Parts: sequence; structure tokens; C-alpha cells
Amino acid sequence: MVSKIILAHPRGYCAGVTRAIDVVELALKRFGKPIYVRHHIVHNNYVVEDLEKKGAIFVEDIEEIPKGNYVILSAHGSAPDVKPEAEKRGLKVIDAVCPLVTKVHVEARRFHRQGYTIIFIGHRGHQEAIGTTAQVPMHLVETAEDVQNLTIDADKIIYLTQTTLSIDDTKEIIDALKRKFPHIRDTPKEDICYATTNRQGAVKRLARQTDLILVVGSVTSSNSKRLVETARYAGVDSYLVDSKLHIKKEWLENVDTLGITSGASVPDVLVQEVIDYIAELHPECTTETLHVTDENVTFVLPPELES
Ligand code: SF4
Repeated sequence: MVSKIILAHPRGYCAGVTRAIDVVELALKRFGKPIYVRHHIVHNNYVVEDLEKKGAIFVEDIEEIPKGNYVILSAHGSAPDVKPEAEKRGLKVIDAVCPLVTKVHVEARRFHRQGYTIIFIGHRGHQEAIGTTAQVPMHLVETAEDVQNLTIDADKIIYLTQTTLSIDDTKEIIDALKRKFPHIRDTPKEDICYATTNRQGAVKRLARQTDLILVVGSVTSSNSKRLVETARYAGVDSYLVDSKLHIKKEWLENVDTLGITSGASVPDVLVQEVIDYIAELHPECTTETLHVTDENVTFVLPPELES
């Protein structure tokens, strides 16, 4: 019987996601339907379906887009050849990459120019890792075991990371890198972004007060999956749910205090639906917020949409 729901704060949309969704909506308003988007603009099914209803068309390959149309590149960042290839095909390109992903791309290019061998800690196959590892040659590692298999003989080595990693897992991998390459240079500024860090910090606090944590987010969302892992590492059961429809009633058996949070690509309407659903099942339950930190980050729009 759930007697209390505690909501993590911060949760949900980060500045990069807000900007990327704004970019698609503004482009639809300004340039009309259809607006093509290469890859899901952010990794959330609800957001993608909502934008599709408004006139966005999502494609994986720019070759699917008829000449003369607008194409928006997703928040996760793209390989450097995507934009010139799209322009060569006669497409008008707007890049909605998060500026914090661009920061990692810029670092990668700078350290490559300076002669560093770059090790990138990230998830193979994730859109952000695909875009970042295409900037310059680099070695991708996902686990501490991968570090053992690296054979690098270089004086100048640096590691960079994906923005949405688990802080705890990444620390283990960095420790393994430092044991294997004692002269490795740290990334100059933390690459794991403020939104990932804050949401994981809030989940750790939430785990101290709850019996179960539901993370609202899609399975494609790296930062949402990391929140589930963070909760479990902190010793509390946790499940990822795309919406209220994915909640299994048996999860709630023996749960007195339920924690709820959401990934950086999740609109709060989905969290509210989950709260309403739990409240229907457990009408006596109260709701409160665990306020861990405030966020006031905003990003300017791409130049094509600034008025
Ligand atoms: S999670 Fe971080 S890096 Fe990704 S879009 Fe949001 S702010 Fe940018």
C-alpha cells in the first residue's frame, strides 16, 4: 500500500532537450510542414509522436529526404560529414545538437590537433557516441574490462566521456584507465553534463527515503537508464517506465514510500499521469517533492531560428 509519493527535483527536461524541441516546433511554425528530423530529436517516444502529429518526419538517413527541404539534426550530435552531405543534397540544415555535446566535440578536435591519443568513455551504438567518435580517431571503451584490452603506446593520452553516463560507473572506468596509463590526462572540464549529474544526485538522495523508484523514460534514453542503475546501486528497487501503462501492480506490493523521477528527455505530463495512476490505486497516498538543487541553464537557439 503506497502511502507516500516523493518526486525528485530536478527531474525531466534539461536545457538541451528544451532547446531541441523548441527548434523543431519553431521550424514548423516558421517554415511550415513537413520538417524532416534526422534521428529522433530526443530519445522519448511521446515527444517524437507529438512532433510527428505536428508535421515533423523522422528519418535515419538524409537520403530519404526530398531535395529543398529543411532537416534538423538531433540533440545527440552528428558525425562531421552529415551536415556537408545534407547541404550537397540541397537540404537546408539546422543543427539542434546540445551545446554540451558540441563542447566534447570541440575538445576532441583540439586534443587530436595537439597530438593526444583520445580514449572516449561511452556506449557503443548510442547516437551521441557515434557522433563524437566520428570527430577524430579515438578509442571507445564502455567498461573497465575494455580498458584492459587497450594497447596504446603514447606519451600523450587523454580521456573524454559521453555526457549522459553513470557517474559511479564512469569513475570505475577512469580509475582503471589511471591504473593502466598513469600519465593519462583528465578531461579539462567534466563532460558528464549538469543535468545528468543533478538527476543522478537527486536519485541517490531519493533512494534513502523510498522503497521503490520509478524512472519515467524511454528505453532508448541513456540518461533515463542510468537513473535506474543509480537507484539500484543506491540499494533500492527501480524500474524504467515509458508511461503509466508500463507499471506492473505487483511492483507496488509492500511499497510504502514510492520515489518518482524522470530522464532529461521526458515531459512532466508523463510524470503527472504516473502520479495520477498511483493515486487512483492508492487513494490515501500523499505527494511531496524532494528538492535537491535548482537548475537555471538555458541555451540560445541556432542562428537559423534567431529572430
Ligand atoms: S542530457 Fe545534458 S548533454 Fe544531453 S541534451 Fe541534456 S543538457 Fe545536453
